Amino acid sequence: MEHVATPSWAMLAYLVSGILFILALRGLSSPATSRTGNRFGMTGMTIAVVTTLVTHVPLKSFQDFGGHGFIARLNTVTLLEILAAIAIGGAIGWVTARRIKMTDMPQLVAAFHSLVGLAAVLVGWAAYLNPQAFGIAGPDGAIEAQSRIEMGLGIAIGAITFSGSVIAFLKLAGKMSGAPIMLPGRHVINLGTLVAILGLVAYFTQDQGLWVIATVTALSFAIGFLLIIPIGGADMPVVVSMLNSYSGWAAAAMGFTLHNTAMIITGALVGSSGAILSYIMCKAMNRGFLSVIAGGFGADAGGGPGGGAAREQRPWKRGSAEDAAFIMKEAENVIIIPGYGMAVAQAQHVLREMADQLKKHGVTVKYAIHPVAGRMPGHMNVLLAEAQVPYDEVFELEDINGEFAQCDVAFIIGANDVVNPAAKTDKSSPIYGMPVFDVEKAKTIFFVKRSMGGVGYAGVDNDVFYMDQTMMLLADAKKMVEDINKALAD
Ligand code: NDP
Repeated sequence: MEHVATPSWAMLAYLVSGILFILALRGLSSPATSRTGNRFGMTGMTIAVVTTLVTHVPLKSFQDFGGHGFIARLNTVTLLEILAAIAIGGAIGWVTARRIKMTDMPQLVAAFHSLVGLAAVLVGWAAYLNPQAFGIAGPDGAIEAQSRIEMGLGIAIGAITFSGSVIAFLKLAGKMSGAPIMLPGRHVINLGTLVAILGLVAYFTQDQGLWVIATVTALSFAIGFLLIIPIGGADMPVVVSMLNSYSGWAAAAMGFTLHNTAMIITGALVGSSGAILSYIMCKAMNRGFLSVIAGGFGADAGGGPGGGAAREQRPWKRGSAEDAAFIMKEAENVIIIPGYGMAVAQAQHVLREMADQLKKHGVTVKYAIHPVAGRMPGHMNVLLAEAQVPYDEVFELEDINGEFAQCDVAFIIGANDVVNPAAKTDKSSPIYGMPVFDVEKAKTIFFVKRSMGGVGYAGVDNDVFYMDQTMMLLADAKKMVEDINKALAD
């Protein structure tokens, strides 16, 4: 059966949705325009889905099932089934998104990526089993060579995305140890498996036997698992962003199989923007981009969440909310460094109130955001925007790091790894090489965390706790800032 050409109005609609996706990405690049960006994305997706339903469902059903008697009923049933699936999936997504805590967002994102991967595998298999319906069968009934490559690659990338994302989800959700699990000779195994997958996809053009595509699928599931399992410690952000990119490429490959332009455009946008984000994050963490793609790049480093290094008993000073209020009120400038703990405590609103009070005392307040602070890209920016912190008070690492030397107070709230000087000095540290804030140059440091025992994501001790100019403010971040606000108001 011939593939049914997409009508020109539908091509135009796909083009419009593609443009809307590009505008969405542009909007999302700045907190000020991100809401508009989101709206563009939602409109683009609605246009794409409606166009696909309108053009595809009746045509396909009509062509596939032929005849006349049952056509109307089949069309209705097919459309109904699709709408029911959208309703069920949409309802699950809606409830999940409403219930999810901001701090659990990274694992939710990883879980969603796994679904994209699985969808790509299922679509690929559906096309393999029923090439006529997908319009990819040649006159002799065999699948066209070009479609076999698209299908093979789509299934492979989709399967890698699926199993990799499941492992990332389990690690981020703490349902599996974050510590790296090393297989002996893993680089050889990984490379061998990847070469075997590519070889089999090439061979698939000659032989469309079930065993070929089944082996591609099985090996790809295995390699996704093998690539992510050795990654631990502080390297998960790059992994999540890489999986995001993979899920885009899987969707784009399936777009070719389904002859769906909107899917090709969207997949390519997600794939390339995810790759660019990964590149930026690699730079932020001082990791090699190519070694990330190869996987297992953080394998020899990183203890994973909760993995604790031996902790020394060294003297440290405890401060109080009143000390912090007094010293900050007198300061000329204060730089706030938020991290994961601020997100856990939901302290962003009281933090903004603290900054407002300090500004009334003539203090210049700036926020310093590390690219991997928190547990997902942009985590801190989103929370500060939610608390209506003015955008011009928020600075990226490279723009503010030079200012710590002239800074009176560095106020670290729930951040740890991103201010750990071991990243600059200790070659054996799992975070060695990651650029960090030069907080030790500030005249006074306030360090808000709940206890001296708690460690950051990478699980290592932090010299800043024991520095002469550091005062530890040990409490839940929100409680501590509320107390500081009371002291400032007195
Ligand atoms: P860290 O994970 O290094 O440190 C968090 C700190 O917050 C700890 O010191 C903890 O100490 C404290 N804390 C936790 N809960 C509270 C609370 N309720 N009140 C006060 N303090 C609290 O955070 P950072 O943001 O500095 O670093 C991010 C780390 O996460 C990096 O290693 C990064 O690589 C990794 N990561 C980042 C991702 C991303 O995309 N941004 C994704 C995955 C990992 P205590 O327990 O004593 O309170």
